[in-house]
Amino acid sequence: MLMRPKILVIGSLNMDLVVQAKRTPERGETILGEEIHFIPGGKGANQAVALARLGAETMMIGAVGPDSFGRDLLKALERDGVDISGVKILDKGTTGVASILLAGGDNSIVVVPGANSQCLPQDLNQQEEKIKEADLIVLQLEIPLQTVEYAVKLAKKWGKPVLLNPAPAQTLPITLLQQIDYITPNRSELALLAEIGHSSALEEEMDRLLDLGVSNCITTLGAEGAAFKAKGEKLCFIEGHKVPVVDTTGAGDAFNGGLAYALAVKMTLTEAMKFAGKVSALAVTKFGAQGGMPTLKEVQEYFG
Ligand code: ADP
Repeated sequence: MLMRPKILVIGSLNMDLVVQAKRTPERGETILGEEIHFIPGGKGANQAVALARLGAETMMIGAVGPDSFGRDLLKALERDGVDISGVKILDKGTTGVASILLAGGDNSIVVVPGANSQCLPQDLNQQEEKIKEADLIVLQLEIPLQTVEYAVKLAKKWGKPVLLNPAPAQTLPITLLQQIDYITPNRSELALLAEIGHSSALEEEMDRLLDLGVSNCITTLGAEGAAFKAKGEKLCFIEGHKVPVVDTTGAGDAFNGGLAYALAVKMTLTEAMKFAGKVSALAVTKFGAQGGMPTLKEVQEYFG
């Protein structure tokens, strides 16, 4: 078993501005909020933190703006030991921001990708050495699709497995899907990707992705756990763990981090799914996406 896997995350970094208010303002209205939190986020950065906490040697490729949000995001990654030498700091523009209003159980979110949209294919040429060194490449869809496609092309050039978390949901070219070793949609992302055109059964939708050429399809099912199916194998499930839930933000990112770590240390898919289920269950017991990511020791202590 590989003791310290080397994993490369190519993806987004966002500052989440979380405003709490009693209610959502009416159109044209100004109200006073109660609290504001500045929370490091972005699916790429969250998954990098999850991996680093578990003990993977984690490298990140992405982009931030020349502003204090960008500096804070990089500091947060560095504190967790993520190699940020592949994160480009732009000369102009702004760091990606998610503006989140929490108002009495209702969430409204506006995401401004900013620098994330400047994470470009040519950046990967300069960082090709990192792809060559990695045991596994982890991707999401918060950077331009052309960058994701090029990352997969380079990964395949060097014979590296690719885990794609297809979030936020969008349809994907078959040429991309054919090269994906592990795809990890949640239930609604799967439905959109499978595009069967009518509401259909989970397995039918997962089969559709396998038929299109994905090697392993994994679907996260929130508190219920997750399903997985490898090409030519049976559909399997892992049950969700019953835990005291504090904040489910980043549950999917924790799951992906856990799964990528486990696959890179050469666990079987079944073992890796169980491990990812534990990592993500622990993550929802704490506030914040990155803040909730557990260490390997915490996972081992909690689940024995
Ligand atoms: P996303 O956050 O991407 O929508 P899910 O909601 O499916 O993804 O959650 C990802 C994983 O996190 C699930 O497969 C499960 O393992 C874990 N998880 C999510 N919510 C809970 C919960 N309430 N209790 C226990 N585990 C959870």
